[in-house]
Amino acid sequence: MAIERREEEIRERLGQVEENIAVACARAGRDREEVTLIAISKTRSVEEIEAAYRCGLRDFGENRVDEALGKVPELNERHSEDPIRWHMVGHVQRRKAEDAIAFANIIHSLDSIRLARRLERFLSGDDRLPILLELNVSGESSKYGFEASDDDSLAAFIEEARQMPDFPHLDVQGLMTMAPLVEDLELARPTFQRLRQVRDRLREVLPYSDWSQLSMGMTNDYKVAVEEGATMLRVGRAIFGEREY
Ligand SMILES: *Cc1c(COP(=O)(O)O)cnc(C)c1O
Repeated sequence: MAIERREEEIRERLGQVEENIAVACARAGRDREEVTLIAISKTRSVEEIEAAYRCGLRDFGENRVDEALGKVPELNERHSEDPIRWHMVGHVQRRKAEDAIAFANIIHSLDSIRLARRLERFLSGDDRLPILLELNVSGESSKYGFEASDDDSLAAFIEEARQMPDFPHLDVQGLMTMAPLVEDLELARPTFQRLRQVRDRLREVLPYSDWSQLSMGMTNDYKVAVEEGATMLRVGRAIFGEREY
């Protein structure tokens, strides 16, 4: 497809997403400014990301380090004046920690203290890498993230999260989660409510961060996520269309 046609398609889709976010914000009495829309650009080409950039998007998310490294340098070079903010949203293998730091402006998917230790090793001086802790609050065994689906696992997670100030170059800003993939999007709501409740608890017991960021909501469930307090939405298909692998 010609890239001009592709850009028009993205512009239309983005308009719809923005409208849905506006409606959800209004319904929840929230300000649109509180919510960052991140375009998840995994599997998309440099030219497609470029088209989305022209539609006004500045936050992009990738879920695989190698794929990101193949696209990010070229895009950053083209847009040094008005740069893209790159979000790493997928699982980071410890051996890819240094490569993740090389492109990501924020990592949403810190899922172990061992990974934190590894990231810290490659940071120095004034470096402060924004970090979200990924939680599995739905109890699905297929998911990455610190388990926090019941009281016991939450207590264990809090003990791990207590260690984060040991890593002075990691700036913990909040939490991330993925809802179960279900047809009925109302089933995503309890997951998002749970993440917010955990956040409120962390504010009490671990005040080293204000825990202000909640990264939750994807194509299927971002409207519900906005209603439940999301500050970062990770939306791929609703902006770019279905993925072809
Ligand atoms: C792919 C992905 C998304 C976006 O999913 P869509 O259904 O395309 O909106 C969000 N978060 C993570 C971690 C992903 O891997």
